[in-house]
Amino acid sequence: MYKGTGASAGIGIGTAVVVEESELVIERREISDIEAEIQRFRSAVDRTIADTERMAQDLASRAGEKEAEIMQGHMLLLADPMLTGEIENAVRNEMVNSETAIENVCNMYAEMFASMGDELMQQRAADMRDIKTRMQRSLMGIQSADIASLPAGSILVARDLTPSMTAGINPANVAGIVTELGGRTSHSAILARALEIPAVVAVTGLLAGVRDGDAIVLDGSSGDVYVNPDEETRKAFAGRRTQLADEKKELERYIGMPSVTRDGIRVEIAANIGRPEDVDKVLQYDGEGIGLFRTEFLFMDREEMPTEDEQLAAYRRVAEAMDGRPVIIRTLDIGGDKEIPYMGLEKDENPFLGYRAIRFCLDRKEDVYKPQLRAILRASAYGNIRIMIPLVTCIEEYRQARALVEEIKGELDSRGIPYKRDIQVGIMVETAAASLIADIFAREVDFFSIGTNDLTQYTMAVDRGNKKVSYLYSAFNPAVLRSIRHIISCAREAGIMVGMCGEAASDPLMVPLLLAFGLNEFSMSASAILRTRRLVTGYSVKELQAVADEAMSFSTAAEIEQYMRKFAGM
Ligand code: PEP
Ligand code: MG
Repeated sequence: MYKGTGASAGIGIGTAVVVEESELVIERREISDIEAEIQRFRSAVDRTIADTERMAQDLASRAGEKEAEIMQGHMLLLADPMLTGEIENAVRNEMVNSETAIENVCNMYAEMFASMGDELMQQRAADMRDIKTRMQRSLMGIQSADIASLPAGSILVARDLTPSMTAGINPANVAGIVTELGGRTSHSAILARALEIPAVVAVTGLLAGVRDGDAIVLDGSSGDVYVNPDEETRKAFAGRRTQLADEKKELERYIGMPSVTRDGIRVEIAANIGRPEDVDKVLQYDGEGIGLFRTEFLFMDREEMPTEDEQLAAYRRVAEAMDGRPVIIRTLDIGGDKEIPYMGLEKDENPFLGYRAIRFCLDRKEDVYKPQLRAILRASAYGNIRIMIPLVTCIEEYRQARALVEEIKGELDSRGIPYKRDIQVGIMVETAAASLIADIFAREVDFFSIGTNDLTQYTMAVDRGNKKVSYLYSAFNPAVLRSIRHIISCAREAGIMVGMCGEAASDPLMVPLLLAFGLNEFSMSASAILRTRRLVTGYSVKELQAVADEAMSFSTAAEIEQYMRKFAGM
């Protein structure tokens, strides 16, 4: 068995097609007719751009707009006058053929990106190498491996897949992808997930062990890959594949069904998103709202802050797509583990206890916070938008944020710009402080959303990303559960909506407890919605009271989890 990194969930069973892009041999040739060579180069660029555009359009229809952006990024690179100008200069000054000029200039950029170290720059380096080879192939008249017309049941095996190769895949014929290089967040992995093709990446020693025509089975979740598996393994994988397909079908029955318990308690099952394009999946899985739009993703992976209008367009797109269903937009939560280089943040000694989220925003009202609040308010004219403030610890923070919202409303009024006048402003309850005074908050705020990812971290004093202390990081700790129960009861007493957008909201062992405590809204990744709806519709809140009482009587997280496991039959 080979072990790699699971990059796209699902079971792949099929026949290996080893894609070996032969290394291009670039010969340096002296040229005499410079202008003719420049023309030759320009036509190759045009052809490559046209090809890329075709791929982008194709991808947009098969996988989605967001995935097509990767190819659109290649088009921008190809059309960048700085890059093409530099290549043309190399042709002119060194009097060499275009292939050589492209090789030198593109390699220089790729190495520069790669040396910057971070993941985004590594990706840029891969993109640069991809377009380099494609321009050279176009010049040399060499066809790329024809991935589009592979026989059905093919498992693509490669050292690495370039984004353009992945984009050319026909999901009807490709049953899986295995690569020796790559990571979960590489563009090819993202595309594989969008095309719903099971994929495993970073499989050491893969190419030495696989030949064209070998039988292959792979598990895109665990990262297990078997080459020429024995009958028993093959059967086990086939069984699991059927099981996954059946489960998917079964869950589809819950599309359009209300999320109501057996005793008639209705809850809302909503989705967490990070980018406007994510609403496509939310609609596909019938999300009843957006319980958390993590807006910091709009600010990441770029060189400067998104403008107010850019933000407006993003928020509006989500509000319109959700068509009247609630959309909770969380204001910027950076600092902590999320850094944004252009914001000029100094390194905090204790980032999770430092200059993060609302603390940062209230300190950067003019250049960061007000433009964001203005964009959200303007977008609220197009749907059912609510505002949510992260990492609040004391009521003054909420009051200041709320005062800013009121100030901007006045400003919009005087400019005659429409917005939702009764827009709700709520908070994430995700610190121990906010939980302890949840009753005080409940008197002033419009709603709560419990962020168990941080609430667990701040209650247990355990860094959510530190493996050495991760044994303490569980929302089943009695301390965290009591906190959750307390927050929900304060909200219910005050008559405000209380949701949860931390990971615990979709934990099947946690859902019965949350129902018993009286949670109104459960927000999670879109793919967990239907599974959670099935769960909710099977329970009676009345019957769950005794279960919750019993669970809360135990002394440790392990006991509670074990009890819930037994109760849920898992
Ligand atoms: C949380 O803390 O539970 C939460 C949903 O926010 P984030 O994971 O973005 O900190
Ligand atoms: Mg949080």
